[in-house]
Amino acid sequence: MIARILDGVAIAATIRAEVRDDVAALAREGVVPGLAVVLVGDDPASQVYVRSKGKACLEAGMHSETVTLAAEASETEILATIDRLNADPRIDGILCQLPVPPHVNAERVIRRIDPAKDVDGFHPVNVGKTALGDPTGFQPATPFGVQQLLIRAGVPTEGAHAVIVGRSNIVGRPLANLLSLDTAGGNATTTLAHSRTRDLAALCRTADILIVAIGRAGFLGADAVKPGATVIDVGINRVDDATRPRGYRLAGDVDFESVSAVAGAITPVPGGVGPMTIAMLLVNTVRAARARVQPDA
Ligand code: NDP
Repeated sequence: MIARILDGVAIAATIRAEVRDDVAALAREGVVPGLAVVLVGDDPASQVYVRSKGKACLEAGMHSETVTLAAEASETEILATIDRLNADPRIDGILCQLPVPPHVNAERVIRRIDPAKDVDGFHPVNVGKTALGDPTGFQPATPFGVQQLLIRAGVPTEGAHAVIVGRSNIVGRPLANLLSLDTAGGNATTTLAHSRTRDLAALCRTADILIVAIGRAGFLGADAVKPGATVIDVGINRVDDATRPRGYRLAGDVDFESVSAVAGAITPVPGGVGPMTIAMLLVNTVRAARARVQPDA
């Protein structure tokens, strides 16, 4: 079997076009949605992510602001930046690019963001709302993107067994919540696996939908995939590759070559979940702006 490729670039482009329409509608009401990204330090991967978020905002017709602080910036300085952005009427969404330097408590920074502007969905208020299926909350962009990708690619979740490998607060755990809720794109039976899971490959072979988010290049192979299953590879790993101009290439957490011969559908890396994450961040920012002008909508 040769798996169908689930094209995250194309699906994300559709969502971004919808966002542009929403932004244009808001502009007619005199509202320009604004996203602020706080970057602490000079981690090269974080710089790339922050640049692409800013570019995506501008392309959607939104206001974009990047606040770059030195790696040595104190937590007090970072919290003061968050306070300023919380109070800024041009800013509807705020996120702090993770990871932050080790002397900074990321939890304290996240909790300082006004939940109404927490478009990353990491504030405990939004974590709780996501768990409860409360539509006024913000879902974290990557799990939200995975769910949208499944919906828009026509992969049925209702009644399916979804095995999610990786239990982080930004990917696996909220995704297990989203897919198990009684909603469109939900109603799956979810299993959340992690490094202490016994016989991981056997568990994964019971999945109709296998979602892998662990951060290890090519970790899961064809022996972990039921023939015909849908495989969503969230992993983004840099692998040394002397043939590439940059000296590395990006690889997912599953071994694409062997798995695509068994799976029914699979996301590539790059070009799968990554573009969806940015698209959903824009969706959340527009929602935040809409909630500001129509609080009861
Ligand atoms: P974390 O490091 O926070 O979490 C990794 C999870 O994987 C943990 O729950 C860990 O288990 C589990 N894990 C690690 N090794 C194994 C193993 N051998 N067997 C089973 N489980 C294992 O990672 P993130 O969730 O932040 O990111 C995961 C991947 O997704 C990364 O490659 C990251 O770059 C990528 N990512 C991609 C995004 C995108 O937009 N496409 C967005 C966010 C992340 P335990 O808890 O037991 O330690």
